[in-house]
Amino acid sequence: AGSLYLVATPIGNLEDMTFRGVRTLQECDIIAAEDTRQTRKLLSHFEITPSLLFSYHEHNKAASGPELIRYIIEGKNLALVSDAGLPAISDPGADLVALAIEHGIAVIPIPGANAALSALIASGLPTASFTFAGFLPRERKDIRAVLATLRASQGSLLFYESPHRVGKTLQHLQEAFGNRRVVLARELTKRYEEFLRGTIEECIAWLEEHPPLGEYVIVVEGESKEEAAKAESAWWQKLSLEEHVA
Ligand code: SAM
Repeated sequence: AGSLYLVATPIGNLEDMTFRGVRTLQECDIIAAEDTRQTRKLLSHFEITPSLLFSYHEHNKAASGPELIRYIIEGKNLALVSDAGLPAISDPGADLVALAIEHGIAVIPIPGANAALSALIASGLPTASFTFAGFLPRERKDIRAVLATLRASQGSLLFYESPHRVGKTLQHLQEAFGNRRVVLARELTKRYEEFLRGTIEECIAWLEEHPPLGEYVIVVEGESKEEAAKAESAWWQKLSLEEHVA
């Protein structure tokens, strides 16, 4: 049988594609992609011509998963990519991995860019332990239930969010956790990458003045007072905005 390669792709900056990722995409018989149009752009940038580009996304994964597994059992090597970053992180992919393992297929991660970890390491909040919570559910009562389970969590909390919902989500966080420190990491690795660091209330107020654009990772301090105290420093005393031009 072939193997299943999980290939990381950039989260905005094409220079974050790895050499090994490019080579793997070149060598695999099939590339399964969340959005084939998006992936075609990446492939053409790196001059990769796949023999077969297969669509694998949330809405067809039940049918296309077993089909992809069949190809691998027949001896094909399959590379799975998502629209950005690591496949299987807030992306379809985890199901295919589980299915592959059930069939005794080797699963090989090809690491690379990831939005949550990039935000965390530059956040200034404790990194020794953290919880990745991905996207919050849509319904208020489900949001509350998730946040209630995270409230006592020690270490930093990581959320993904779209620009339309980031303000609302901060309000939910404020309601569930109180006015903790938070870092909004926006447009990571892109031209308008920026970090907004402050309390949840400060960030809510800032967003009211500056309509959110782009993609966000929200990093919230955990409950652990002791660890959080270590990260205390002057720039936490007031809201701080740091912009980088990549
Ligand atoms: N698989 C991806 C990864 O490994 O990071 C995550 C995919 S998830 C569908 C998309 C979410 O990731 C966005 O809504 C945003 O919260 C976050 N994200 C992706 N790219 C980002 C970027 N360049 N800057 C900030 N957040 C980003």
